[in-house]
Amino acid sequence: MATTTIKAAVARNTDAPLTVETLELDELKDNEVRVEMVSTGICHTDAIVRDGIYPTPLPAVLGHEGAGVVTSVGKTVKHVSVGDHVVLSAAYCGACKQCRAGRMAYCENLFAEDFGGRRRDGSTSLSCCGEPISSHFFGQSSFSTYANVVEESVVVIDKDVPLELMGPLGCGLQTGAGAVLNEIKPEAGSSLVVFGVGAVGSAAIMAAKVAGCTTVIAVDIHDSRLELALDIGATHVINSSSRDVAEEIKMMTDGEGVQYAIDTTAIPAVTKKAAETLGIRGVLVLVGAAAPGTEVLNRPGYSGDRFV
Ligand SMILES: [Zn+2]
Ligand SMILES: [Zn+2]
Repeated sequence: MATTTIKAAVARNTDAPLTVETLELDELKDNEVRVEMVSTGICHTDAIVRDGIYPTPLPAVLGHEGAGVVTSVGKTVKHVSVGDHVVLSAAYCGACKQCRAGRMAYCENLFAEDFGGRRRDGSTSLSCCGEPISSHFFGQSSFSTYANVVEESVVVIDKDVPLELMGPLGCGLQTGAGAVLNEIKPEAGSSLVVFGVGAVGSAAIMAAKVAGCTTVIAVDIHDSRLELALDIGATHVINSSSRDVAEEIKMMTDGEGVQYAIDTTAIPAVTKKAAETLGIRGVLVLVGAAAPGTEVLNRPGYSGDRFV
C-alpha cells in the first residue's frame, strides 16, 4: 500500500484554531489497522495538548475518541478484520508490569504510547510536503479522514449500533464509568458525589446508578448539565456557583459526608472541596488531567505528604 492523501485537522500552534489540511498518510505497519473515520469525540485532553500543557510535539493531529470502519489490516494483526466497525481507545505497551497484570490504563509507558506523537520506531505516519506531523495520538490521531491505528487501540463493536455516537466510549465515557465500576466498586446503598458533570462525570453518574448507589450527587456550575444529571441517575444536584457545596452535602447525607467522591475537573480548589465532603473512611478518586506540577493542598502548615 502506498502513501495515501487524507484530510485532517492539524494543531500547529498553541492557543490557535486547528487548520483542516491535506496530508500524506504513510504505509500501514504490520501491527496497524487502517480506519476510515466516521466520527470522533472531542475531549478536554485534546485542548490542553494543543495548548502545550502536555508534551506532544506540534504540529500534530490530535483526537482520541475515534469511531469508524476498518479498510485494511497489517500482517500481524489478529483481532480485527476489514469491514469491522471499531471504536478507538488509548494505546498501551502490553509488556510492562501494569499491562501484564491487566491494568493497561496504568501502563508505565503511557506517555510515550499516547502523547509521544511517534511510533515506537520513531516514525510518524503523517506528513505535509515532507514536514513530519505528529501522529498516533492515543495510538490513533482521530481528527482525520483516515488513520493508521495500533491494534491495541482498536475495539470491534456490533455493526447495528450507530458509529456516529460511539466515539466518546473510547475516552470520556469509559473513564467515568471505569472510575466507579472498576476502581471504587461502591456497595449497594452507598453515597457518591461527582464534581464536574461533562462526559466523564455523566458516565460516573450512570455507573453509580448501575452499581446501586442510593445517594448520587452531581455538582457543576451549569444548570443544563445538572438537569441532564437528574435524568440519568443523580438523586441530588448542586450548582456550586450559588450554593455552599460542603453544607448542602452535609444535609443530604444526614451530617455524615459522602463515602465516595470523584473529581473530574482537576481544578485544585475543586479537588480540595471534593476531599472536604468525605465522611469517615471516605475515598476521593481523581480522573481529571491536571497540568504537571499542580498542587492541591497548599495551605500553611502542610508540606506534601505530612503535617508539620
Ligand atoms: Zn480524553
Ligand atoms: Zn504497559
